[in-house]
Amino acid sequence: MTENMLIVSWQLTRRCNLECQYCFTDSCPSLNADKELSTEECFSVIEKLKASFPDCMLILTGGEPLLRKDIFEICNRASENFFIVIGSNGTFLTKGIILKLKECNIRGISINIDSLNHNNEFERRILSKKLNSIKFLQEQKFPFIINTTIHKGNISELDQIAEFAYSNVAFLLNLFFLVPTGRGHSLYNLTTSDYDYVVSKVLDIKEKYNGRLTINTKCAPYLIQYTLEDPKNLKIYEGSGGCPAATNYLCITPEGEVLPCPFFPLNASGGNIKEKSFNQIINSEIFAELRERKLKGRCGKCEFSYLCSGCRARAFIISGDYLEEDTLCPYIPKGGNKLKEETIIEKGGTVYGYKKSDKINIKWTKDAEDRIKKIPLFIRSMVKKKIETRAEKIGIEIINSETLDRMREEVSELPMFKRFHKD
Ligand code: SF4
Ligand code: SF4
Repeated sequence: MTENMLIVSWQLTRRCNLECQYCFTDSCPSLNADKELSTEECFSVIEKLKASFPDCMLILTGGEPLLRKDIFEICNRASENFFIVIGSNGTFLTKGIILKLKECNIRGISINIDSLNHNNEFERRILSKKLNSIKFLQEQKFPFIINTTIHKGNISELDQIAEFAYSNVAFLLNLFFLVPTGRGHSLYNLTTSDYDYVVSKVLDIKEKYNGRLTINTKCAPYLIQYTLEDPKNLKIYEGSGGCPAATNYLCITPEGEVLPCPFFPLNASGGNIKEKSFNQIINSEIFAELRERKLKGRCGKCEFSYLCSGCRARAFIISGDYLEEDTLCPYIPKGGNKLKEETIIEKGGTVYGYKKSDKINIKWTKDAEDRIKKIPLFIRSMVKKKIETRAEKIGIEIINSETLDRMREEVSELPMFKRFHKD
């Protein structure tokens, strides 16, 4: 059992009814699904997940996972043990399908939207299907996430997309920095100066919606370097984080190959889950070396490397070596000590590094501990810390079930959560 594996992204199929330009799996309608895992093989994967990563969150994605005829069987079986989110293109989400997913105890759906201003008729029709799906999701009070892949063609739309996510009461907005893999390779045209612009734009947007909409940046681990150099940005950094590939995150392909993250190409597989256990796979050379992170080039010398470590998939795709430097990062390391999570260094009034909140001396009763264990592992420590911080502030030394009820009520009164409850 590996306690650190927090998120497993499972691509159930490579088939898709769309052919998005930024797709990292090259999915399209005409793909042959013969080599994809059968229903029984998927059930066997679920058993192996239970044995190795019982607390992970599962993202069931594709291609378009709703194209699988056995999708509800797989959801039903997996949701007996796991917290599940579906990653969909949003074009099949009728009221009936949303209700069925609810019955299967699916906890959320992410929909990819990279533009709200298409200029060809086909893409406008697809967008309108996605908007309808969002309307149904709102009606059913089903939490949804907007996933946007940032590329040169949509940089100018980021403000509009954020406002769209906010005004449509999305649970969160994930902004993905493109990794040059699959069909997305052809869109990989951000220059370093575009990149500087995108980073400052994303920071502005995060600041603008702070406390109203959660916006996470994905696969831009070097954002930490920008934010840590300016203490006012520490809060904005929350929810982003360094590269989790192979440490807290892995991906299962439709054929059963296990990759350090969905953006690695197939030749980075740690093994096929039909033939090996997860424990064997995460002890493969690539997983072990990625966990060890003996990085090369600028990333190896960088004082931010423990917190960031660059995008390992991008390093692999560009240089053929997953330990090489991430070339999209413009930062020239200054040398000196490597910053760790608990580090605070002050130089001339500037704070470098960030500090997790001071250790809090609060006790938990058994019933409160049992309740907190029902929260998926990937957010449990964050929720626990927030509860303890609040308890300390209001002078509570022992957290019991009544404390948790009281805090749940407090949270549901916050403007950001009230939006989910409006009728
Ligand atoms: S390797 Fe890159 S794409 Fe994969 S999780 Fe890390 S930052 Fe994201
Ligand atoms: S040089 Fe590497 S480790 Fe340092 S900030 Fe850039 S990507 Fe991150």
